[in-house]
Amino acid sequence: MSLTKYHSLINNQFVSRESEEGTTSQDELYIPVVNPCTEEVIGLITQASEEQVRSAVQSTVNAFEGWKNTPVSERAACLNKLADKMQENMEKLATLETQNNGKTYFESLADVDECCNTLRYYASLAGYVQKKLDGYTNEHHESEKHGLSNRIVFESVGPCVSILPFNYPLLLLMWKMGPAMITGCSCVFKPSEYTSLTTLVLGEYIKDIFPPGVINIVAGYGYKIGNLLTSDPRIKKVSFTGSLATGLKVSSSCTPNLTRCNLELGGKSPIICFEDCDIDLAVESIVGGIFANKGEICSATSRLLVHKSIYQSLMDKLVERTRKIVTGDSLFDKSVSHGAQVSKIQYDKVMNYIETAKKEGAICLVGGGRPEKAAAQDPTKGFFVAPTIFANVTEDMTIWKEEIFGPVLSVGVPFETEEEAIRMANNTEYGLAAAVMSGSDERLERVGRQLVVGSLWLNSSQPCLCQCPWPTRKKSGIAVELSTFGVDLFMEVKTIWKKL
Ligand code: NAD
Repeated sequence: MSLTKYHSLINNQFVSRESEEGTTSQDELYIPVVNPCTEEVIGLITQASEEQVRSAVQSTVNAFEGWKNTPVSERAACLNKLADKMQENMEKLATLETQNNGKTYFESLADVDECCNTLRYYASLAGYVQKKLDGYTNEHHESEKHGLSNRIVFESVGPCVSILPFNYPLLLLMWKMGPAMITGCSCVFKPSEYTSLTTLVLGEYIKDIFPPGVINIVAGYGYKIGNLLTSDPRIKKVSFTGSLATGLKVSSSCTPNLTRCNLELGGKSPIICFEDCDIDLAVESIVGGIFANKGEICSATSRLLVHKSIYQSLMDKLVERTRKIVTGDSLFDKSVSHGAQVSKIQYDKVMNYIETAKKEGAICLVGGGRPEKAAAQDPTKGFFVAPTIFANVTEDMTIWKEEIFGPVLSVGVPFETEEEAIRMANNTEYGLAAAVMSGSDERLERVGRQLVVGSLWLNSSQPCLCQCPWPTRKKSGIAVELSTFGVDLFMEVKTIWKKL
């Protein structure tokens, strides 16, 4: 049976490379879409050629003026139409997302639902954007004294590029598409080479809703086509979400043109449980904070710090709860709540960290490799890693310091004082997020304010909604375009003086 091919969308046309078959190798032309739960190849992604990437940029540049001058209300209507289309096709999109990414069907459904919310939220910001376009008079400017009035207006930043990671293919796409579209920016989107499927399928809806060139989607390996996109002087903003290593490359390729660049990178976020916390709530927050989306979450609270006095009781409950998680293929068995790592590469990476942890002397309390029997048609297949907890992890150990991006929780040596907990939590090169669990509001506030992170959860972990900004600190990047704050990042300020 021949595999379906999915092509890049350029100027509202899907562009194949079938004419090159026979003269160019299959590896150069296609990326196999592998189902991480079964290891079956379920489709082929056509890699955009360099020429196609250039034409996507040109199309984005050509579309910018027209889109910028399209009334904001019409731009909002396009976002709402896309939300409606995604809503209508929710089950189809969720199934494809699970087949491509390995997350559970339930998680994919939640993602698609939140995609619709995100698009509608940005559509609802039409009034906010219009006000910024209209501008306002600078009330601090002493007009009479200088004989000049002063007005501040905002404009769409220009043609953009957005580069995406593999963990939330559709949702992160919407986090970037929403603010870019409502502010009048045209954009080339590049999904991860591992998870391009749903983005390209979405192209079917996009081409019927948005004018040509406003949204282009190019598929391919980042190391091959990424630099072409980020170093193009016609691109006025690059929005990147991915690893620190790639973020550094993207940032340096933007530098020669001084292209605006927003980086949203990795994390090694702590969750601190004080002696006065609700232990059951803490256990749920810890489990959700590291094992949801099979640990492939940038803000996963992957380092656990527990007060000495509750350490044993909390850990007993945590281990018992973790043992109940069913790992496998949720499209095969509905009881599955934990899917497969996205790719063989990611699976091997997580397994290597587990081996390193064992070698360095961490104590494995649960998990520590493949699940004994994954709930899948063929349990010998699939990139499954059992939810894993290591205790006695000291601050010099690799798994305490490095982002694993998998279902592995590192539990530090129990702490005795607040100061000790804060110091250990802040002892990381990352600064994406943190969670604090305590029954005392004063303590939550006091400790939370001392953590050097962009996002902070108090008595919870992970909820992240498009209405709230998503700032980061240290080597976790700069800021991401969520909320009205994010809309501002797609607009440029212009100041106008007029002689009185
Ligand atoms: P990655 O850095 O390997 O890849 C991200 C994207 O960059 C992919 O589309 C890839 O093709 C592209 N790319 C690779 N080389 C490039 C280059 N030279 N120029 C331009 N683009 C290039 O990241 P990943 O493995 O897909 O995702 C996992 C990482 O993403 C983790 O570190 C995770 O923490 C991070 N992440 C962060 C957030 C956040 O909100 N901070 C959200 C999701 C994921």
